[in-house]
Order: sequence, then C-alpha cells, then structure tokens
Amino acid sequence: MYQTLLTDSSLYTFLLKLDEDLAAECRKAGCFCGGPLHSAIYPRKPRGSPDDVEEDYSWRYSFCCALEGCRRRCTPASFRFLGRKVFVASVVVLICVLRDGATPKRMAKLREIAGVSRRTVERWREWWRDGFVRSPFWKAARSRLREPIDEDSLPRSLLNAFPGENGKTILSSVIRFILPLTMPRPLQDF
Ligand SMILES: [Zn+2]
Repeated sequence: MYQTLLTDSSLYTFLLKLDEDLAAECRKAGCFCGGPLHSAIYPRKPRGSPDDVEEDYSWRYSFCCALEGCRRRCTPASFRFLGRKVFVASVVVLICVLRDGATPKRMAKLREIAGVSRRTVERWREWWRDGFVRSPFWKAARSRLREPIDEDSLPRSLLNAFPGENGKTILSSVIRFILPLTMPRPLQDF
C-alpha cells in the first residue's frame, strides 16, 4: 500500500491542498501584533517528489506582517516539508516504513525511485528511533494517542496507530500529528 504512494502524484497534490488550508488559517489569524499578513512565499528545493508535482513543491507558504516596525515572518506548519529536511515529509516517513522487511534488492529499487542514498535512509531511521523519541514534542504528544507506540518500530507503529480509508489518509493523519516538527525552526533541533 505504501509503496505505490511514493510515486502517486495524487498524494502530493493532496498534501499541497492541506498546506493551502494551513496557509489560509495562518493568514486569517494575522500577526501576533494584530497586523495583517502579506504573502511572502519562499523557494524550496525538496527532493523525493515525483517530477509531475515538482513545481508545486518548489516553494513554501510563508507570510510577512504588513505593519512597518513589525514585519514579523509567520510560516505555517507544512504537510510537504519536514522542517529543514531536504526530502519531502512523505518520503521521510514512507521510505523508513518500507525499509522494514524489504529485501536489499527491493530496498535498492525503492531508494532509486525516491533518489535517496542508503546512508540517508539509515540516518532517518536513527532520527525516528532516537532524535524523535527524545524530542520534547514526542514526550508531550505520545499521551494523546490511544495506545502506546512501539518506539523501536517507528514510524510504522505510528502509521498503525491512525485509522484511515487508505494509505493517503493514514499518512496525512501521521503528518498532521507531527505538524509541530514541520516548522522551519522547531523548538527542538533534529
Ligand atoms: Zn506584526
């Protein structure tokens, strides 16, 4: 189920739509100072998304306060970009899930599809099972889940914890759950 999602451009346009909603909410809320927000999108060059959605993934929603003397930048969370990670969020989740139980040959094929090196995949897995687990976000958020999560099998255990009709909705629920980590400057470094 998750393997076909890697190259399913409808997943990527679905996540873009969710980002549009987050951006609309952010803009509506306005700046902390009460000023209105103006669009100030910035370019990104993420890797791992299919070619036909590349353009939709080449920028991130961001806003700037219109009031002179404030000009604060407000960047909403994102379903497409996981903080400063170079690869799109969905790939960081999916490749790690598919890594478990895949034969080396099969995994090599999947890495080729996403354009990611073996070393990067191993670094992500380490992040899920160490950096993520030790993050203040996870320590606070795990209690919101109905059942305890097997931290040794992250991120698959997280996907298993969310109900959904299909891989697309389950994956978006997981990204929704970890949205605080998608901010460009998350409280905790990862
Ligand atoms: Zn402001």
